[in-house]
Amino acid sequence: MRLAQRVSRIQPSATLAINSKARALRQQGTHVVNFGVGEPDFGTPLHIQQAAIKAIRDGHTRYTPVSGIDQLKEAICDTLRNDYGLTYHNENVLVTCGGKHALYNLFQVLLEAGDEVIIPSPYWVSYPEMVALAEATPVMVSCLQTNNFKLHPSDLERAITPSTRLLILNSPSNPTGAHYTRKELEGLAELLLRHPQVLIVSDDIYYRILFSGQEWVSLGMVDEELRSRMFIVNGVSKTYCMTGWRIGYLIGNREVVKAATKIQSQSTTNPTSISQYAALAALRGDQGFVRTMATAFEERCHYVMDRLGELPGVSCPTPAGAFYVFPNFSSFFGKSGKGKLIRDSLALADYLMEHAHVALVPGGPFGEDQCLRFSYALSMEDLQEGFNRISRAIMELS
Ligand code: PMP
Ligand code: GLU
Repeated sequence: MRLAQRVSRIQPSATLAINSKARALRQQGTHVVNFGVGEPDFGTPLHIQQAAIKAIRDGHTRYTPVSGIDQLKEAICDTLRNDYGLTYHNENVLVTCGGKHALYNLFQVLLEAGDEVIIPSPYWVSYPEMVALAEATPVMVSCLQTNNFKLHPSDLERAITPSTRLLILNSPSNPTGAHYTRKELEGLAELLLRHPQVLIVSDDIYYRILFSGQEWVSLGMVDEELRSRMFIVNGVSKTYCMTGWRIGYLIGNREVVKAATKIQSQSTTNPTSISQYAALAALRGDQGFVRTMATAFEERCHYVMDRLGELPGVSCPTPAGAFYVFPNFSSFFGKSGKGKLIRDSLALADYLMEHAHVALVPGGPFGEDQCLRFSYALSMEDLQEGFNRISRAIMELS
């Protein structure tokens, strides 16, 4: 069958591919420790589940307005006021089927052939692919491990051309867990003010998972002038353990939001009605759970960093949030195990999956082939077992 060219322009999601590989092994009865998938391991809090059941019982099972129900948009605006100190109105908000869909809609609205999108590398696997689907060109900008993989204004300046349309920032970051400080964002803002054609999308999906001593701050909070060309993407997936419910949102310029709503009206219509009521309960309800979860991730992060520190030749910047680490394993490249040469991150991830039954995402699809991505949203027992297996398998390489 002939397929449209755009299909061959993109790669399947590497994170989701690893997850399905791990799931397939599990179905065969193998106990896999899955560091692959990026989703909290906690269940959706009970009051959110109950709100969804109530929504069904109350008959909220029909189409909603394309851009989402008003109450949810109001709750999103209130969240922005409380957490960012920024004022937005319902017409600045589009509720989508997950944060990924918010980004997809935004790119469809803003980008076309000839446009360049600056993506600090390492990056979340889906950014370049979604940019390519919108026919624009992703421009990766390498960020140094010694700078915690964060974008420096001078790197950004070198990448900006007259065709630059958009910059994607993601903090706390997937895959590194790095978070930009206010001072670092001020440095980027100063530069961006000199390039008024560059729009910015701030992917804040991990913003509530920040560790001790970290301040929540994003670009729109450090400079008022930048706000008119800033888009915020967020959602309930990570903050409220609702990855399967598929609710995200896009916030920004109302003309752009209106255009994205038009695209949504011709694709998914509205996000699931029941999930919207659940998301409303999440945003309006008790937030205590979120703190508890972030503390649990921080404890696990300490454990993971300790165990990585025991592996010879492995280096890793300390994360400030989210639930990922992105250690450099390149000292093992060139060695062999079970008759196979470990040439790159993919070969190492395959070796660990096959021989240690540990699922990890290779760094290549995140733009940094020397690294492997670990999601540590796992129980302490699984983390211990996973690292025991990795240590043993790594020691067998020669
Ligand atoms: N941005 C980043 C950086 C992510 O890691 C994810 C996780 N999938 C998303 C956006 C989108 O998440 P979701 O579509 O589940 O809201
Ligand atoms: N964002 C998560 C991850 O990186 C979920 C999977 C995906 O959508 O990529 O693992």
